[in-house]
Amino acid sequence: MPTIHQLPDHLINQIAAGEVVERPASIVKELVENALDAGATRIVLDLEQGGLDRIRIRDNGCGIDADDLPRALSRHATSKILSMDDLQSVATLGFRGEALPSIASVSRLTLTSRTAETDHGARIDYKPDASAEQEPAAHPVGTTVDVNSLFYNVPARRKFMRTPKTEFTRCESIVKTLAMAQPDCAFTLNHNGKTVFECKAAADMEARNTRITRILGKGFGEAARAVSLEGAGLTMSGWIADPSFSRSQADMQYFYVNQRMVRDKVISHAVKQAYSDLIYHQRHPAFVLFLQMDPTMVDVNVHPGKQEVRFRESQLVHGFVRRSIKDFLAAITPADSLGDSH
Ligand code: ADP
Ligand code: MG
Repeated sequence: MPTIHQLPDHLINQIAAGEVVERPASIVKELVENALDAGATRIVLDLEQGGLDRIRIRDNGCGIDADDLPRALSRHATSKILSMDDLQSVATLGFRGEALPSIASVSRLTLTSRTAETDHGARIDYKPDASAEQEPAAHPVGTTVDVNSLFYNVPARRKFMRTPKTEFTRCESIVKTLAMAQPDCAFTLNHNGKTVFECKAAADMEARNTRITRILGKGFGEAARAVSLEGAGLTMSGWIADPSFSRSQADMQYFYVNQRMVRDKVISHAVKQAYSDLIYHQRHPAFVLFLQMDPTMVDVNVHPGKQEVRFRESQLVHGFVRRSIKDFLAAITPADSLGDSH
């Protein structure tokens, strides 16, 4: 008879890493989300070789108490939820308490942090046997996570990585996707010692427009209209491009629910329908939209990557997105210039 035994934590973390840590870009996503959850207004990323050799992220968020550092690296440990009620109304980007231990289990990870309450920072190096202890270290208020030698201990995974250039492109795209939804935070992305992307905190609408144009290009900037739509207890803001700016691929479609970037069939279908009379069937609209809704109306705990959601009332959401965009488009397209009032 086979015997059943409990797996060691390190191995459990590595198994979880299979889902959360697919490649450097997924690490970048988790770490930037952590910084944002910590209230950072400035995030600096230093990547080497597409993140495969190194991903270092520094933030000026609230920091982690020295005594809490070992917990930050242990599985299912989070400061963000405590109960089922909290889980049902998650307002943070993270909540599963598994990103740091997963990342740490497939790399060489150091966490250094300081809170505003003390003058001394502390650091901890992850150790597979959980023997790591924090030690004093100089650090400004905020946190630095330094991830080195990704997948050094999972050669099978490492083999699936593309070239550093391709991996970097994915990381850059994640950073930009997150930056679009976080106008109050400044971002700097360095690769192999060179600054590749940088944006200041965007204080007003004009600065937000500028950030979006910087990220999505002048073409989008010129074709985009700012929207602010409301109805059915939902609000949606952002930018939608004129139908004339339609694209051959669905590569400029950014949809966020409560600041979280999501991929969702209900939403893409609703937007497609809204544009259906205005663009050719094979063409795709371009948009950046932020839907705000009561967090209890959406389940974000669908997949470890947290990019899928389930709407409690998906018909309501579908209807609102479709109708509000359709009406907006009807009001700006040529019918209007012919005197057709909406
Ligand atoms: P989760 O984000 O789901 O809580 P993580 O494994 O990503 O889980 O992080 C574990 C905990 O470590 C977080 O709940 C938070 O308390 C702390 N933490 C992680 N990154 C940061 C950061 N950049 N600043 C402050 N605290 C952090
Ligand atoms: Mg997290």
